[in-house]
Amino acid sequence: MAMRYTGRFAPSPTGLLHAGSLVAALASWLDARAHGGQWLVRIEDVDTPRCVPGADQAILQQLATCGMVSDGPVVWQSLRSDIYQRALDTLVARGWAYPCGCSRKDIETAIEAAQAQSVARHQAAVYPGTCRAGLNGKPARAWRLNVRAVQSALGLPLVTQWQDRRLGAQQQNVSEAVGDFVLRRADGLWAYQLAVVVDDAAQGITHVVRGEDLADNTARQIVLQQALGLPTPQYLHTPLVMGENGEKLSKQNGAEALNLSDPLQTLNIAAQALGLARCTTSIEDALRKWTQASLT
Ligand code: GLU
Repeated sequence: MAMRYTGRFAPSPTGLLHAGSLVAALASWLDARAHGGQWLVRIEDVDTPRCVPGADQAILQQLATCGMVSDGPVVWQSLRSDIYQRALDTLVARGWAYPCGCSRKDIETAIEAAQAQSVARHQAAVYPGTCRAGLNGKPARAWRLNVRAVQSALGLPLVTQWQDRRLGAQQQNVSEAVGDFVLRRADGLWAYQLAVVVDDAAQGITHVVRGEDLADNTARQIVLQQALGLPTPQYLHTPLVMGENGEKLSKQNGAEALNLSDPLQTLNIAAQALGLARCTTSIEDALRKWTQASLT
């Protein structure tokens, strides 16, 4: 019997796809096909100020041009506030989420030792836990997960471990590495961590395939899954595509939008990053052939 497999590609519509995001899209699509599974597209537009109007449709168009179309309805996170609110309510009811009144400045001040900031996506300074014991008269701004409270109530180890299908055994002490992370931001927007965990579960995602720059978020997501009683998918983090300057390509550092005047050629460049052999007959042939090769 074939294993149940539902995968996804979850772009943030902060711009068009670039060479790096196409690698993640292609890898997730191929892995789903290789397992006889479904592949879903989810538009992660919770960070509305950073979203570019029309980028969602443009991304779907770019994917379609490369032969990749969601097997089910496309989901927009901006329409799912009620579901995220319910998840937060659950955590609050269990005593595992608390309001935080710290401004960015407060946090910076509290972190005496200035640590080098990570460049990974969705990364922030380690929160020192200032408001865990109460707001101390400050107005509530963000909501945070009390990581230690979750771990002790559920008897979980302080070090969260998982097996990445490409990177192998991984581990992170979430409290030490990031602290009590944000679930709902001070500006009222839902945090990526909460939205991604709720939606991966709601869509029945069994396998997450995404760029390696997101690997560092996995432990936080696993703790949150455990806190909400949700299953943990299998993870595979794909190699990053480096720009000519040796930095990873990202919208932030001005990676160029994909050139889709020759989509097969563009797909071949993405395939090369995954160690797949060139195929120049047609998009359909290429996708079929690459599906037969294993990504891990
Ligand atoms: N939307 C997220 C991003 O582009 C990726 C989410 C994920 O694959 O988990 O940073």
